[in-house]
Amino acid sequence: THFGTRTVPLEDKQGLVNDVFFKVASRYDLMNDLMSGGIHRIWKDHMVARLAPQRNGARPYKVLDMAGGTGDIAMRIINQSHGFAQVTVSDINANMLGVGAERAKSWRYPGQVEFVEANAEDLPFEDKSFDAYTIAFGIRNVPRIEKALSEAHRVLKRGGRLLVLEFSSVDVPGLDAVYSLFSDHLIPPMGRMVTGDAEPYRYLVESIRNFPDPAKFSAMIEAAGFKRVTHDALSGNIAALHGGWKL
Ligand code: SAM
Repeated sequence: THFGTRTVPLEDKQGLVNDVFFKVASRYDLMNDLMSGGIHRIWKDHMVARLAPQRNGARPYKVLDMAGGTGDIAMRIINQSHGFAQVTVSDINANMLGVGAERAKSWRYPGQVEFVEANAEDLPFEDKSFDAYTIAFGIRNVPRIEKALSEAHRVLKRGGRLLVLEFSSVDVPGLDAVYSLFSDHLIPPMGRMVTGDAEPYRYLVESIRNFPDPAKFSAMIEAAGFKRVTHDALSGNIAALHGGWKL
């Protein structure tokens, strides 16, 4: 089988993505540490620091962490806010959410999180219900990115914040070649070592390559109605943090 998104019709893409995360759920966080050498933690902390929710009276700061998987981002947001943020972790994959819900029982503020199974393209939440929408390493897996962005815009309150953390296109000469070798020759074997299967990781590498570059992705965010759209390159643009506001 060939998982490259170029050869996979849009309707089948979600099924492949679901297989990947169904298989790796219990070892997902270990895989992240191995494959990024722990750097994903720095990128995630960067996103959470940027969010920096401001207290506004007694009202909780409500965050939707979409494609939130095992709840890693949610835990960081809640801890950073000292339990003042309330995070809804939403994901299409019940296995990932299950691992997260189990883990959340031993968090510092276990009452501040809920887990809701949903597709980013079609959210079961009311209009204008969140102060922020975050999505980390999730949007490139969504077959119709435009739909996910317009749903993000719909569920945000006016003044609400969008933050998207995603792999990007390395733009540092030399690093691009090393990164490419690493992606093709180290990621799939590491995946096989930990999960017994290399193929899903070839698909993940492919999905990173196919993701739009920062300028193109920023234009998509603007097309969904967001204002003051920005992006910061992280680690030589291996990843990028995209931001926007619903004004
Ligand atoms: N945000 C977490 C993190 O940074 O550790 C998890 C990221 S993981 C690489 C990608 C997640 O996207 C998976 O949990 C997967 O189930 C989820 N996902 C894929 N397609 C989705 C969709 N259409 N709607 C919601 N979640 C989706």
